[in-house]
Amino acid sequence: MILSERATTVKSSAALNITVKAEKMKINGIDIINLGTGEPDFDTPTHIKKAAAKAIEGELPKNTDIAGLSVLREALCKKALEENGLSYTVEETVVTNGGKQALMNTVFSLVGQDDEVIISAPYWQSYIELVRLAGGVPVVVYTRAEHGFKLKASDIRAAVTDRTRAIIINSPNNPTGVLYSRKELLDIADIAEEKDIFIISDEVYDKMIYSQKEKFISIASLGEEIKKRTVVINSFSKTYSMTPWRIGYSFADRKISKIMKNIQSNCSSNVNIVSQYAALAALEGGDDCVTRLVDALKKRRDYMLQRISDIPYLRCIKPVGGLYILVDTVMLFGESVDGIKIESGRDIAKILFNKYNVAAVPGDVFGMDSYIRLSFAPSMEKIIIGVNRIENFIKQNF
Ligand code: PLP
Repeated sequence: MILSERATTVKSSAALNITVKAEKMKINGIDIINLGTGEPDFDTPTHIKKAAAKAIEGELPKNTDIAGLSVLREALCKKALEENGLSYTVEETVVTNGGKQALMNTVFSLVGQDDEVIISAPYWQSYIELVRLAGGVPVVVYTRAEHGFKLKASDIRAAVTDRTRAIIINSPNNPTGVLYSRKELLDIADIAEEKDIFIISDEVYDKMIYSQKEKFISIASLGEEIKKRTVVINSFSKTYSMTPWRIGYSFADRKISKIMKNIQSNCSSNVNIVSQYAALAALEGGDDCVTRLVDALKKRRDYMLQRISDIPYLRCIKPVGGLYILVDTVMLFGESVDGIKIESGRDIAKILFNKYNVAAVPGDVFGMDSYIRLSFAPSMEKIIIGVNRIENFIKQNF
């Protein structure tokens, strides 16, 4: 039996796998604290759930556009204009099964066989897998904590070849929490325009920013030329605690959006209609629920950051946004714990999981071996227990 070589090399999402493993342990009565997952413990807001229930009770449309209900796409365009200064039409908007499908549609629209896509490390794992699935080549540019984990214009220039098709930007970033400034985005936009490269701008954490001084900027808002060559990706998953509803969207030039829609028409058709009505209610319901979520997340970030910074041998930078703290564990390398010589963040994650009942994502998943990623999305109570256990691990062994 011969399977597709390309497909069989695709790795499944490590963060999801860790969550599944942690859930199994919980079922078996083991008190595991899952700091691996980026799911805030908030329930989907009631007005959104009610709108979904109402939609089911009413008369649902029989046929809907593959790209989504017009009324939802209009609301998305309105939001993009009011909040991010982005002017898109309904035809330039595609509603997708989560940000993931928007990314898949994008990569499959822009990237052909052996085309290169520049991705900064640490990266979100799916970028690499999607580019490979499309037959493209991920070109990883490593960033450093000393430079705030930011992709610099000089690094991009060094990585560009005549096969470069796109650069993926994720701001605020998973896993670093880094937010790009206007100047940094302008520098990247200049290169994209000069070298005729697309930008894939993953903005799923656009509302999750914990500093009054910092503001989210979409690279597509920086001028008509860069807007034409940018695909904006966003999602309801994080902002409205709607991950299982599977609803996201993209904005892109009409021609690209048409191709993305064609791809989606063959893969999944329109997004589940109930989720579309729920998403509409989310957009129309005001941002009080988002403010409450972000306020809670800020407290959790502040607490986790302080505690991790106080633990000897662990280092991290302050995440401005997102849901994660990336912890450098390199100072523990070379030591042995229970006969295991520590040589990577994966070794640390393994010990934390097996001996201290804390789930963390090993850094190799993000292309950076010496780190582990901790999520501050779980409840404060769970974060406190989880961080206490990490502190005990260090106290008892180093
Ligand atoms: N982009 C980034 C950076 C993410 O971290 C995630 C989810 O964790 C997504 C996109 C996709 O989110 P969803 O498909 O749930 O909308």
